[in-house]
Amino acid sequence: MSEGLARLAGRFGRLLGPDSVITDPVRLRTYECDGLTSHRASPGLVVLPDTAEQIAQIVRDCAAAGVPYVARGSGTGLSGGALPRTDGVLIVTSRMRRILEIDIPNRRAVVEPGVINLDVTRAVRADGYHFAPDPSSQQICSVGGNVAENSGGAHCLKYGFTAHHVLSCEVVTPDGEIVELAADGPGYDLLGVFVGAEGTLGIATKITVRLTRSPEAVRTLLAAFGSIEAGGGAVSAIIGAGVLPAAIEMMDALSIEAAEAAVRCEYPPGAGAVLIVELDGPESEVAHQFAEVERLCRDAGAFEIRVAADDAERALIWTGRKSAFAAMGRISPAYLVQDGVIPRTSLPRVLASIDALSAASGVRVANVFHAGDGNLHPLVLFDDAEPGAAERAEEVSGKILDLCIEHGGSITGEHGVGVDKSRYMPRMFTETDLDTMQMVRCGFDPAGLCNPGKVFPTPRLCGEVPGVRKGPHPYEGKADLF
Ligand SMILES: Cc1cc2nc3c(=O)[nH]c(=O)nc-3n(C[C@H](O)[C@H](O)[C@H](O)COP(=O)(O)OP(=O)(O)OC[C@H]3O[C@@H](n4cnc5c(N)ncnc54)[C@H](O)[C@@H]3O)c2cc1C
Repeated sequence: MSEGLARLAGRFGRLLGPDSVITDPVRLRTYECDGLTSHRASPGLVVLPDTAEQIAQIVRDCAAAGVPYVARGSGTGLSGGALPRTDGVLIVTSRMRRILEIDIPNRRAVVEPGVINLDVTRAVRADGYHFAPDPSSQQICSVGGNVAENSGGAHCLKYGFTAHHVLSCEVVTPDGEIVELAADGPGYDLLGVFVGAEGTLGIATKITVRLTRSPEAVRTLLAAFGSIEAGGGAVSAIIGAGVLPAAIEMMDALSIEAAEAAVRCEYPPGAGAVLIVELDGPESEVAHQFAEVERLCRDAGAFEIRVAADDAERALIWTGRKSAFAAMGRISPAYLVQDGVIPRTSLPRVLASIDALSAASGVRVANVFHAGDGNLHPLVLFDDAEPGAAERAEEVSGKILDLCIEHGGSITGEHGVGVDKSRYMPRMFTETDLDTMQMVRCGFDPAGLCNPGKVFPTPRLCGEVPGVRKGPHPYEGKADLF
């Protein structure tokens, strides 16, 4: 450990107590990656603060010492956003798990950043409300991580992403101030800039979230098709008919095979694709639209339709989809989870191109996707013991993103850019675009210490971004402060 980090460790020990500072190399390794395990780095130092004031002091001390820092919630991110720095401090929010306020009349809750996503819903379910963003990782991921990644989930088709459910955020800025960013104030929408910034503009220490009224009725069906094209046709027909389901999810034959092996979800045998469609809302509207969805699925070629009769059957239908990523371990020693977006209407063409890519390269690709909003999650399978296999998988994975861009889509739908996809940013944005985004970053973090090396392919210091003059950083040269 460097002398600077050792001094910070001593200082943080006095600030937080010795149990809240980790310096032991073996324990540090627990934090060396997030859900994307192909990128690893042991943090220089880990701190586990309890309060916003402590985080503000940690950030001020890092700034004074010129030491980079990274926030981490539950570490389930899939783009290496919480990848630590070996020369830096990892600020873990897992001890900040208090739900501070539940305000049902105003449909809002105030939570600390380490609160687990599903715990918000659990706390308000009895009142007939829930927290709408529902990433498949919702049992373990933190609300702070959701904010940073602007996370989505199966039901975001109808309810929107995390950004639509955050009313305000208390944030520790990179100069160590505690500020409030709110959605409804005059001036620039800084909350909108902060949500989805992947922890590069500051650290959220308190989040006010919108609570959504739970629907009167929920109905779910599973439709099995002979091919992915037929399933894609059903998706277009449903949306084209003006029906907005809460969720439309699709899985192809390979992902069904994996899910069957892992959780025995008993999807119809012989399906080339299954579609899960969930409708919610007022009872009469749901009943009417559900009948229409069933008809549209049959017209598109569904050879079997199962309707969930109760919550237990609904959970069974969802089991296969929710376990799809983890289930890949049953059919492949290793895999990459890709996340790209395409216009919904391009679904059949892009999936055919992915098939062709897979056949030409010999790399198997399973497809799981939020079909309603065109968010693909191709799972690129490989054997990590085979020389060159990881590189081939990576190449196929990059070509899939090229396909998304060619069709007018995006290199990420919900998992973020992080460290993993920064190299793909120039495929989607010009240098001027990227510099413009970095000007925003410089506005928040002139010293470039807050989660550096993420999102941008060429991280720049403020003086290197055209149009930005590097002003003196408030803590520059003040390492003697401590
Ligand atoms: C099995 C599985 C399924 C998943 N399914 C989905 C899905 O359906 N939809 C989806 O969108 N994502 C999904 N994810 C990805 C992941 O769960 C989300 O990105 C989640 O929001 C990350 O939360 P976290 O607490 O684990 O954050 P972390 O991984 O700890 O951090 C993620 C990013 O947030 C930053 N960060 C964390 N806390 C703060 C804070 N308080 N202030 C500022 N920045 C912060 C970190 O620096 C990092 O850049 C899935 C992941 C897994 C493993």
